[in-house]
Amino acid sequence: MKEIYLDNSATTRVCPEAVEVMSRVMLEDYGNPSSMHCKGMDAERYVKEARSLIADTLKVSDKEILFTSCGTEADNMALMGCARANRRKGRHIITTMIEHPAVLRTVEQLIREDFEVTYLNVDKNGLIDPDMLKEAIREDTILVSIMHVNNEIGAVQPIAEAGALIKSVDPEILFHVDAVQGYGKIRLNPKKMNIDLMSVSGHKIHGPKGIGFLYIRDGVKISPILYGGGQQNLLRSGTENVPGIAAIGKAASLIHEHLEEDALRLYGLKKDFIGEMRELDEIFVNGVPAATEENLPGIGDPEENIRNYGAPHIISISVPGVRSEVLLHALEEKGIFVSSGSACAARKKSVSDTLSAIGLSKERLDATIRISMSVYTVKEEMDETVKAIREIVPFLRRYRAK
Ligand code: PLP
Repeated sequence: MKEIYLDNSATTRVCPEAVEVMSRVMLEDYGNPSSMHCKGMDAERYVKEARSLIADTLKVSDKEILFTSCGTEADNMALMGCARANRRKGRHIITTMIEHPAVLRTVEQLIREDFEVTYLNVDKNGLIDPDMLKEAIREDTILVSIMHVNNEIGAVQPIAEAGALIKSVDPEILFHVDAVQGYGKIRLNPKKMNIDLMSVSGHKIHGPKGIGFLYIRDGVKISPILYGGGQQNLLRSGTENVPGIAAIGKAASLIHEHLEEDALRLYGLKKDFIGEMRELDEIFVNGVPAATEENLPGIGDPEENIRNYGAPHIISISVPGVRSEVLLHALEEKGIFVSSGSACAARKKSVSDTLSAIGLSKERLDATIRISMSVYTVKEEMDETVKAIREIVPFLRRYRAK
């Protein structure tokens, strides 16, 4: 049976180029970048090269990129590091109700350390209201953390607008963006968007697991969360994961090469898929503004695509009458891999913060699956998935309680 992998927001297949450089580093150039001999210097060259490749994708300076072990560590570092370094300035933090647990659980820890947090609510499409953000800013606000693309429904927050707004109220307030789901799918420019800190993860962009990075704008002071050998300018102790770093550099650079064309193609697939779902009895598309319009708008201008369809690669649907795990496994039997809610939350069954925040009823909440594409996804795979849903859903709904 052919495999159709549509769980790319959980993780992606590593691209061959990243595997190649990773294996070269592991087998040949395996030195420790801190060693003074040439093996160390060879290893250091990979770190420098990756930093420069990544910096190019964001139009920032090499020294503004700090490698971490994953997106979660980058988020922890941004929030904890900022809060601890700025606690004398203030103790108020603003975030949203629909952040990934890597942010939500970290701010909960900060609350235990005497910080105060305001959570911004979102509308039915998962979007914050910039006016509410403005109202939430206080004299003692030190940090605002807003995710770029939501991992469950693909909502894209107005990051540039939020950044400009925050800085117009108080340029000292730091702005952190969790860009784990958006980097490499939608072009980001931290300088233009007034972003001070930004988290990215390797395994969502066809790099390996166990590597991520945090962009830290030059001049922003944060406290380390790991102490030890003082690597990466004392900010993140621990021997650098050179194979992972070399691979994320490669993957980051490749995914940006054809970003606009790839996004356009995925928007086309997303639009067609949504169109098919609308033909079916009682299947709802979540968090896509265009999904409720009489005619689905065409794909074209990048800004409009975002406004109409959210992120290019994530589709969330609710199928009332069919529990999400049941649908997930029925699709799996046909070789199609999707996820229920957010797969990164360690397979635990908990109510999704995002799906609750956009106001889904309990029945719809329990009946939601996420289909997430990548640059490797092709039209035939999406058509196969539509066909499978069309077959499976009426069958599974046979005994639905009326
Ligand atoms: N932030 C978001 C929005 C995510 O979707 C994820 C993972 O799915 C993370 C953070 C955590 O990234 P990592 O798995 O690299 O720790």
